[in-house]
Amino acid sequence: MHTTEDPLLAARRRMVERQMRARGLDDERVLAVMEQVPRERFVPGMPPEEAFSDRALSIDLGQTISQPFMVAAMTIELDVRPHHRVLEIGTGSGYQTAVLSRLAAEVWTVERLAALQEQARRLLEDLGRLNVHYRVGDGSLGWPEEAPFDRIMVTAGAPQVPPPLIEQLAEGGRLVVPVGGESDQLLTVVDRLEGKLHERRGLACRFVRLIGQAGWPG
Ligand code: SAH
Repeated sequence: MHTTEDPLLAARRRMVERQMRARGLDDERVLAVMEQVPRERFVPGMPPEEAFSDRALSIDLGQTISQPFMVAAMTIELDVRPHHRVLEIGTGSGYQTAVLSRLAAEVWTVERLAALQEQARRLLEDLGRLNVHYRVGDGSLGWPEEAPFDRIMVTAGAPQVPPPLIEQLAEGGRLVVPVGGESDQLLTVVDRLEGKLHERRGLACRFVRLIGQAGWPG
């Protein structure tokens, strides 16, 4: 028997096939989440073919929602397990938050622009994401009251790995953060293993600046 497939789900499946699987991403748990999370809801007013296009898109207040490939690649790099406590810096549209909240036990997300986070919170609550905690403030300082975290993801570009985030990383923990210049960075992965820090550089990326005490000056 044939059922009519939801055209938006079909579009997300194509996005996963063409933009992710075709480029070598093969983490099935993450790819399934990329199919499920309704990206189109995070870019209201945009025609669906734009919402799923292979690039970052502008959202309100001069900020961006990352390219789908970058969201998937960073999420795979973070290696989130179902019992993990995850800290995310840079809520933005809330799209990456939605992805993380489907993979982790709980997500703490920090955004410096109150209006953006309010919009993201309303949407995430509407989508039934109940395991997300929200804070408006300088995320380069982390969320010390809730530390340590198993995983930390920064979705803004930093001039250095922010020291407060390293301090808030649990043993066995991993931090993923774009580090470099104001407009070009390399995705940097820091692991804390047996008390020692291990750092490596990966994908080239372009994020808006992380503005804060352990980031760029405003
Ligand atoms: N992950 C987002 C994209 C984030 S864009 C998404 O999926 O849509 C980067 C975000 O980081 C912007 O919203 C910006 O306001 C925020 N930001 C920049 N510096 C910050 C800081 N110090 N603390 C918290 N958020 C910050």
